[in-house]
Amino acid sequence: MKKNLGFLAVLAMCIMLFFSCDFFDSLTGEGEGNNTETEKNGDKGKEGNGNEYSSLISFDVGRKDTWGKVSYESLETGKRQKYTKLIIDEMNKYPNDFFTKIGLDIIIIGKNLKFEGTFRASVPDNGKKILFMGIRDDYTDDYLKHVFHHELNHYVEYHIWGSHRHDWEPWRKLFDGEGGGGELAYQNGENSNSMVYNPDLPGFLNYYSTLGQEEDRSEMIAFFLTEKGNKSFVEKAEKDNIFRQKSILLFEFYKDKFKYNLFDEYLLLIKDK
Ligand SMILES: [Zn+2]
Repeated sequence: MKKNLGFLAVLAMCIMLFFSCDFFDSLTGEGEGNNTETEKNGDKGKEGNGNEYSSLISFDVGRKDTWGKVSYESLETGKRQKYTKLIIDEMNKYPNDFFTKIGLDIIIIGKNLKFEGTFRASVPDNGKKILFMGIRDDYTDDYLKHVFHHELNHYVEYHIWGSHRHDWEPWRKLFDGEGGGGELAYQNGENSNSMVYNPDLPGFLNYYSTLGQEEDRSEMIAFFLTEKGNKSFVEKAEKDNIFRQKSILLFEFYKDKFKYNLFDEYLLLIKDK
């Protein structure tokens, strides 16, 4: 790929993801986060058939969001089965009781999802206990999967910390990104490869991750849960000590709060490296 094409791809990805997730703290304020009660049985759900999650999926177009700024259309009936399966397959990567623990009641799948008139692939709404997912013809399946995990991490962080932009001290010590939050403008209609990996960016998977602690964590979890074999992720951890420390923090967090055993799997992956 030509250099400037690569740059454009990264830029487009950043813009795309940026407004699918940010500035919710400024809209919702603080204080909604409940400390998750930890522990109980945290078996991973991969072995399950996922049918238990069907009741969490809805195509209802009458749902109101916290801000009165979300809009979306009804997804065509013929597409519902496909996207139900796509989402449930991703849900099955989490422990069985994960969605109960984070207080997520429903995942709405619509099409042409917008926030304040701007297209989004997903909007996490802790206030209403909804994760909105928006389908568009130009969103690839891989992009939707990535965004699902990315936004779910924002939902998780808000649930735990009461903010979408929590300044987590141990992370801050390792984070030297640009920060800046959601100030980038978003152009309707952009689409891009949401998983542009940059092996040469110290401490980060990609440029988007540098834009805030929460984006860094959301990108890492999304990347880890969607990259087959985790080759790039492990390669980064192998040669980049800052990234490696952050990844261990992240997986420790999920293990501590949700008994999510990504941590142990990850340690095995990076063992002796
Ligand atoms: Zn985000």
